[in-house]
Amino acid sequence: MARKTTRIGSLLYNAAMIPKKVVQHDEKPSEKRQLPSFSLVELYAEMKNIGQPAFRARQVLDWMQKGITEPSQMRNISAELQQQLTERLLCSPLSLAERQCSTDGTRKYLFRLARGGSVETVLIPEETRATVCVSSQIGCLLDCPFCYTGTQAFSGNLTAGEIIAQVLAVKADLRDEPLPENLHSHVTHVVYMGMGEPLANETGVHQSLHLLMDENGLKLSRRRITVSTSGLTPAITRLGDTAPVNLAISLHAGSDTLRDELVPINRKYPLADLRAALDAYPLPVQRHITLEYVMLDGINDRPQDLAALAHFVNPARERVNLIHFNAWPESPYAGSSKQHMNTFAKQLIRKSIRATVRRSRGDDIMAACGQLKSQTDILLRKVTRTPEKTGAKQRNASGVKNEHELGDNNE
Ligand code: SF4
Repeated sequence: MARKTTRIGSLLYNAAMIPKKVVQHDEKPSEKRQLPSFSLVELYAEMKNIGQPAFRARQVLDWMQKGITEPSQMRNISAELQQQLTERLLCSPLSLAERQCSTDGTRKYLFRLARGGSVETVLIPEETRATVCVSSQIGCLLDCPFCYTGTQAFSGNLTAGEIIAQVLAVKADLRDEPLPENLHSHVTHVVYMGMGEPLANETGVHQSLHLLMDENGLKLSRRRITVSTSGLTPAITRLGDTAPVNLAISLHAGSDTLRDELVPINRKYPLADLRAALDAYPLPVQRHITLEYVMLDGINDRPQDLAALAHFVNPARERVNLIHFNAWPESPYAGSSKQHMNTFAKQLIRKSIRATVRRSRGDDIMAACGQLKSQTDILLRKVTRTPEKTGAKQRNASGVKNEHELGDNNE
């Protein structure tokens, strides 16, 4: 695929951000509307526009909910309607390029986008639920130095149709190839924790949230959806105002000094701003905001780091999820030991803070938290960070375990 590359400063935030490579794909996005972005009401309008009876809208939506978006596979609609949909709409904004299956049932999908580029999506099945972790951007502009996705060149926001299409494609895969009987084979939860910063793509994410929660559509309760953000505080407030789903924060440090390094957006929105946004976020009774804390050996797992974290947390509304660092090639950090993570969690609990160490999922296929990066882009950007730059220690990747962060607020 032909591409051209440019280096530009951070487009969205401030000069303190690290310059980021942006990849532009030569393919122009289709001007056609994407079928997965249609609600039932919009399908009714579309049928009216093209002279089809209203009941066809429900038929098309029923197929979409089974994961089928190609009109030629919608067996109970007429050939004329199939042709109209194909001509007027972009029915499949992405296609499966590769699927990898973990020994624990986790599946990682590489999807190629019709407009160019690719993204990864992860299915995390358990006994009673199956969670789809969707990407919201192609790469990420935010450059958190411990995150593999952050090393990928950024090439754009996903549309609502492309986000929903990830969920539909996983549904189709589960229908075609169900999981072993001990695992749940229907999508029950969606988390925005894949590639990208969801709240840097408010248009695509907000529209897709409404489609996920649409009572005539995918019908997911807001309690089964989690958006994870690095802390774009004005956008957190807007999310709470319009679509107050479960919220997870990539915190990773309880002091501004350290968080400025680990989560550079903190230079723009420091912890005091984040605290105010979290305190104002609407929470149903007995729900909590999840604070994600990836544990880096000698970096954020020291006694002073624990004290800073404990000082930041509001125990009445928040819980801490300690995450094993997920190794990736040339990663400049080492993960804290399992034993140390358990001790860290116990010390938080002693301070009356809910803290858990998350179970590892999908690490054998690089599907765990912070490990997503679309393979087509891996070679486009060489990782230039060094242990000296970050103060981290190099460590054999095979010695580091990891976990998938799911957001414990989910039912
Ligand atoms: S942790 Fe999230 S916000 Fe930071 S670089 Fe990775 S994907 Fe982007």
